[in-house]
Amino acid sequence: MAEINKNSLFKISYGLFVLSSENSACIINTAMQITDTPLTISVAVNKNNATHDAVKKCKKLNISVLSEKATFDLFKHFGFQSSRDVDKFAEFDGKAVSENELYYITKGTNAFYSANVINEIDCGTHTLFIAEITEALELESTPSATYDYYHKNIKPKPDQKAQGKWVCKICGYVYEGDELPADFICPWCQHPASDFEKA
Ligand code: FE
Repeated sequence: MAEINKNSLFKISYGLFVLSSENSACIINTAMQITDTPLTISVAVNKNNATHDAVKKCKKLNISVLSEKATFDLFKHFGFQSSRDVDKFAEFDGKAVSENELYYITKGTNAFYSANVINEIDCGTHTLFIAEITEALELESTPSATYDYYHKNIKPKPDQKAQGKWVCKICGYVYEGDELPADFICPWCQHPASDFEKA
């Protein structure tokens, strides 16, 4: 039986997480503790996402809690929605394997949890996975990166050259053309044109 540090669990109640399963991973903000005995969490995952399919298939998941040391490259690498047919861990060196044999992220994170899926609820665009924690470790004491912290401190500020251009509100990507196509998808974070604004 792997260690479960209950003090680490407060970190799951807010913030941003890398959800990983098999070779897929994506960034989510929808993990939270449900019950203490048994120790369960809920994780809502967009169905249009390779990590969703991986969790559904292997019934195991890891949650790595992003800290204020997380770099923008880390956000870019794991993205807010993961693309299909991409092994997110092949070229990535800030990783380790937990006792459930899934990867967790060792840099820019302060805790991780491993869990077994015990139930899943179809919620339209998302599946809500209910999972029982099998391992929970605090890795370091750096505060968790909230969405607010990410926007103020991690996301790059648009520079002068971006003035008057369409900029992705999520990741800061600058679209070089004049008119943003309505079906445009941000190449960095995969968010749609509706998440762009004029800088
Ligand atoms: Fe973006």
